[in-house]
Amino acid sequence: MIPFNRPHLFGNELQYITDAVKSGKISGDGIFTQKCHEFFEQQFGFRRVLLTSSCTDAIEMISLLSNIKEGDEIIAPSFTFVSTVNPFVMRGANIVFCDVRNDVPCIDESKIESLISLRTRAIVVMHYAGIACNMDEILKIANKHNLLVIEDAAQAVNASYNNTPLGSFGSFSAFSFHETKNVMAGEGGMIVLNNDQYIERAEIIREKGTDRSKFFRGEVNKYQWVDIGSSFLPSEITAAFLYAQLEHLDDISKKRHQLWNTYYSELSPLQNEGKLKLPQIPAYAQHNAHIFYIVTENPEDRTRLMQHLSDKGIMAIFHYQPLHSSNFWHSRYSGPRLENTDRFAETLLRLPLYYSLSQSEVKMIASEAKNFYNGR
Ligand SMILES: *Cc1c(COP(=O)(O)O)cnc(C)c1O
Repeated sequence: MIPFNRPHLFGNELQYITDAVKSGKISGDGIFTQKCHEFFEQQFGFRRVLLTSSCTDAIEMISLLSNIKEGDEIIAPSFTFVSTVNPFVMRGANIVFCDVRNDVPCIDESKIESLISLRTRAIVVMHYAGIACNMDEILKIANKHNLLVIEDAAQAVNASYNNTPLGSFGSFSAFSFHETKNVMAGEGGMIVLNNDQYIERAEIIREKGTDRSKFFRGEVNKYQWVDIGSSFLPSEITAAFLYAQLEHLDDISKKRHQLWNTYYSELSPLQNEGKLKLPQIPAYAQHNAHIFYIVTENPEDRTRLMQHLSDKGIMAIFHYQPLHSSNFWHSRYSGPRLENTDRFAETLLRLPLYYSLSQSEVKMIASEAKNFYNGR
């Protein structure tokens, strides 16, 4: 049986957790949280990062920091996870869904401007599979209309746009360390603050609306309630686990790229014969091999291919059901048909991709896909 994902331990996870427990400080913002913060600030040049309990939590913090309120509008893709938009809906915002591009399931920058109204506050982008959205165009539009840019970079650790790390473009960005992501801590996330003006309030919102972070640094002699907030910080146990993974980030990226490239070359003949499409990575995007997906000609092909692979013990799975037509939202949606969104929802199929997968397993999976197409 080849699962879709299998979490990998690099060896120091349990040691670091033991160290954290033995140090006597298991709550948040201890030594391992600090090490993770420094790692991201140094490696990627992010202005300031704060670990959170999840990417969803980080986006909730972003929604609070942006002062999103009743009636505000947020432009976001529909082909994404609910957490890209739910935190804004929780604050009373309306989501104006934008279609994704024809070549990659990332927001179609050419369709954003027509969706802007006087109530629009932010453009939220999501870098699908770690493939960058067209950030130059998106920033141009945002600057022209004075809108915030927010990156849901949940899948985008160690991926770039024109060689600048994803997560550095938005006023705010959010990353995930969920078990299914390239580096993981079971559950975990991070907010990136690229704009000095939000840093102090972010620390307060993350610490239940108190100035405890200042107190810990000795900047105030007692801490107190100063704003709204919640408990967004993870314990040191999470940070210790995450740090053990971060030490292997280069290795993780390299291995995933090798597997991704093998899928690509093994499946290229099927693409050349017009039987399916492989990912079309724009020239500005340096992705992180988070997902290997194929796009089938039609939904029936996908269903049958999934079944064929499943019969051979290979777990391939489709991805997002569009948010604009979900049970929760469809009655609120009055925009046009989102053609590319619907097409990717119906025809995109993700193949197994994880650190401990072998080259020979990838070749076997690819050859089963070829058997499926050639045997018909
Ligand atoms: C995984 C993911 C999230 C949620 O991350 P959590 O850490 O589980 O909250 C949000 N957005 C996208 C695009 C994701 O892939």
